Amino acid sequence: MPPRLLPIPQVMRALARAIRDHELPAIEKIAESRHRHAFHILIGTLLSARTQDATTHAASERLFRVAATPAKMALLTTRQVETLIYPVSFYRNKARHVRATCRVLIERFGGSVPETMEDLLTLPGVGRKTANLVLILAFASRDNICVDTHVHRISNRLGWVTTRTPEQTEQALYLVADRRWWADINLYLVTWGQNVCRPIRPRCSACVISRWCPRVGVT
Ligand code: SF4
Repeated sequence: MPPRLLPIPQVMRALARAIRDHELPAIEKIAESRHRHAFHILIGTLLSARTQDATTHAASERLFRVAATPAKMALLTTRQVETLIYPVSFYRNKARHVRATCRVLIERFGGSVPETMEDLLTLPGVGRKTANLVLILAFASRDNICVDTHVHRISNRLGWVTTRTPEQTEQALYLVADRRWWADINLYLVTWGQNVCRPIRPRCSACVISRWCPRVGVT
């Protein structure tokens, strides 16, 4: 079945211009400031789940200042990692995942971050969201869509997809969006979701893509 004709190119072009006025999301900042260092992007993304961007960025930088490689990070105790990354949410679980991931990177991947979805998903605490973002930001993949809570919410509000979970949204977006937009969807919709199309009280009157938005589910 051919993909439905949705105004995705118009929305993406408008967002490409509009997001220049807003701060980059935390992981994009880490990717830029750390020269697309795959290990730092991976760890930053692990820390970012359900955590404010400013908190994620500060915690990542504190951790990298003490241990910037899997070998050095694996030498830290779980307690030390917890202290460095606090107050990210679920910092105890995340500290365990960080240390376990470092050990797997060393033991199975020679201390490097693997470059395939299949291998990334074997790392403790890494799901499709993290793996897709690592592939896009660290390995310049144009074949992945990273769907977090913002991408999931806004894709549904825009009527691009009708889905219940981020995993469903990712698969549905592959069908409706042209490949040329895949890698940019996360940056554009996350920036828009943090600043304009917020979970509660989206700022529809100040939204540059409102003409293409049916506002599905917005009350
Ligand atoms: S018009 Fe409203 S619901 Fe639609 S994308 Fe903009 S802020 Fe979100």
